[in-house]
Amino acid sequence: MSSETKERREKRYGKLVIFKILRYDPDKDQKPYYKTYKFTLERGMTVLDGVMHIKENQDSSLSYRKSCRMGICGSCAMFINGLPLLSCQTQIVELDSDVIVVRPLPNFPIIRDLVPDLDTLFKKLLEIKPYIIRSDVDEMDRPSGEFAQTPEELERYIQFSYCIKCGACVAACPTVSTDDKFVGPQAAAQAYRYIVDTRDDGFKSRLGSLDKKHGVWRCHFPGACSEACPKGVDPAFAIQLLKRGIIARRYGLKKPHKPASLAVQPEGVKPRPDIPKAPEPTVG
Ligand code: SF4
Repeated sequence: MSSETKERREKRYGKLVIFKILRYDPDKDQKPYYKTYKFTLERGMTVLDGVMHIKENQDSSLSYRKSCRMGICGSCAMFINGLPLLSCQTQIVELDSDVIVVRPLPNFPIIRDLVPDLDTLFKKLLEIKPYIIRSDVDEMDRPSGEFAQTPEELERYIQFSYCIKCGACVAACPTVSTDDKFVGPQAAAQAYRYIVDTRDDGFKSRLGSLDKKHGVWRCHFPGACSEACPKGVDPAFAIQLLKRGIIARRYGLKKPHKPASLAVQPEGVKPRPDIPKAPEPTVG
């Protein structure tokens, strides 16, 4: 940050900041409208702090969602000055504007004020079966131990498992805005997360949600989802990898991944040499 920017931001503390917040109560209002609030900007205030300040001091009818206030739960994502952001992670001073416009996430219906209805996000997520699917159903239902993976096998999906279901990627997606049936970046990234997991054998059973008219082929790779993601999940990359995986399967080019094996092998079965030995348990 340049010293000029730092100085400009310093000067804003103790001055008035204007919040224009989209208000909508479906029981009272015919359509959403903006209401303006003003308050003094204190050092360290995030957009969520600003919204909470307004609720506590100026307008107790304002509705919004929040929980952890530390960028983990994903519930406070809002559309702030034209970008889908976690409001708890967005410093007001860093927006470099005296007017902060706050709306609920686009591409979702509004329940009330800043609260989006995320039903479609979770329905699409459920459709791709976001859990380990195994062909040995007995092991899935009654696990007999832990499955071992190499660090490289873990690397293939760990980034995609950081998703906190905030919905920012879906709000940023231009395809969702014109096709609400599109599987969407969040669900697609989670499909990829499980498909490349060596413990999983569910690619085929997820294809119905991915390789279809409103599936991954609708993505034209604008990349807005990855830009918006506060956790670095990179859903746009996951979608391109899914497309590659689907084509490879279609033309018989896909080699099945080495299946994960139980960390504690049944007697007589040799453990895979490429899997490091698990450390001894630290508690009895
Ligand atoms: S992929 Fe990123 S932006 Fe999308 S829901 Fe998950 S954490 Fe949020």
